[in-house]
Amino acid sequence: MTVEETVNSYRQYVKKIMDFNEAIALAEWDMRTGAPVKGISQRSEVVGTLSDEVFKRSISDEMKTYLDVLTDSSVQDKLDRVTRRMVEESRKTFNRFEHIPAEEYKAYVILQSEAQSVWQEAKAKSDFRQLQPYLEKIVDFKRKFIEYQGVKENKYNTLLDLYEPGLTTEIVDGVFKRLREGIVPIVQSVCASKDQPETGFLHNHLPADKLKAFCLHLLKENGYDFNAGRLDETEHPFEITLNPGDVRVTTNYQEDDFMSTVLGTIHEGGHALYEQHISRELVGTSLCEGTSMGIHESQSLFFENFIGRSKAYWALHFSELKKFASGQFDSVSLDDFYRAINVSHPSLIRTLADELTYPLHIMVRYDIEKELFNGNLEVSELPGVWNDKMKEYLGIMPDNDREGVLQDIHWPGGDFGYFPSYALGYVYAAQFKHAILKEHPDFDTLVSEGHLSVITKWLTMHIHRFGSLKKPFEILHDATGEGPNPEYLISYLSDKYSRIYNF
Ligand code: ZN
Repeated sequence: MTVEETVNSYRQYVKKIMDFNEAIALAEWDMRTGAPVKGISQRSEVVGTLSDEVFKRSISDEMKTYLDVLTDSSVQDKLDRVTRRMVEESRKTFNRFEHIPAEEYKAYVILQSEAQSVWQEAKAKSDFRQLQPYLEKIVDFKRKFIEYQGVKENKYNTLLDLYEPGLTTEIVDGVFKRLREGIVPIVQSVCASKDQPETGFLHNHLPADKLKAFCLHLLKENGYDFNAGRLDETEHPFEITLNPGDVRVTTNYQEDDFMSTVLGTIHEGGHALYEQHISRELVGTSLCEGTSMGIHESQSLFFENFIGRSKAYWALHFSELKKFASGQFDSVSLDDFYRAINVSHPSLIRTLADELTYPLHIMVRYDIEKELFNGNLEVSELPGVWNDKMKEYLGIMPDNDREGVLQDIHWPGGDFGYFPSYALGYVYAAQFKHAILKEHPDFDTLVSEGHLSVITKWLTMHIHRFGSLKKPFEILHDATGEGPNPEYLISYLSDKYSRIYNF
């Protein structure tokens, strides 16, 4: 076969894997958005069968043959940019699984899904000991898988790299240290301020149908393309991509806490805009998805915090909210509304945390994960260490595991290394905003006058369209001229919160 023929055949092979992935995503979306209960167990088997097929194809002899040919240095120069990156990604996946015995991996997948249902029970009963043996086995598997890859030093880096390619503990340590030094004094000033926002009206009742109409309106205003997506209701909001022409979001209508619905919807909408704007040239390749969890989260947080919690955004949309409501907010001023939606205080639950204290929740998890994989921490010690870290970083401690170490699904799901990407995405988002401001100093006016599309165009130009063609740090460098830098986030938070709390 000529190189060209090999490339074509390889790309068709990958295209089939992508088609399987789209079918898996559709089945998952259906299961999560209201498939009949009686069909769930059979459907799970279908997903299992398809996932198994994807896994086998990614490490098959056929794949190995393609990779052997296409990674040869004499061939590499002849490859176009897209194919070269695809090959690099295929190689990475291949190497990751190559040495894991199939039986062991299967056992791990089963354990993981068992652990998630045990977690639900353990969380309801607030009983960490029930989950502990499962978590111990998951951590053992993870440790073993890393060893199979031949990694001896800094094992946790292997896990970080899964979610944020190129990320290391050295980078995270530096960013988090500085972030903590910057955030903690702001949190202290916020807590000490005599000028606390009034937030009672945020719990005024807003019926689900009105709330839904308002969310649909905002998503449209933010540029979400309903011809390439849809909004449904689920307990936990999420975004799921089938292909750039079908990027779906969900939300949860909380009639007595409407802003958590609104901000949650804007957040998922931010993820969706990223995926809807990926270049159509990448459809059918393995690069047709956001490049990393961190860059993804930078897009959702950009919309949730830098747009959705900004005064400029509500200067435009607050009067509309009043129209969707029936008098509940008529006596509330824009200024009071803005202060209320930015209220901040240390709290126990990460997903309910405000934008100022959020990164501290991530640091608690990061320290623990790093010690589990690089140090001597054992699973049995997690609840105690968790509580100590909460006390140290946020100044408060849960009195049960449900509101402590058991709150997140990530660990029972085997997702160690994932958390840091949330905080890192936030750091990136502030960097992107800074870069946009250089080109568009009228950022606030653009937002308040409804010209968000100018900003989205910048994001598409520098981030969205590339999908995974560029790696996360490449995106960041090309768009902002530097690597991860927490200073922009710190100065944004310091500026914003000193105004809101008058210090
Ligand atoms: Zn998100």
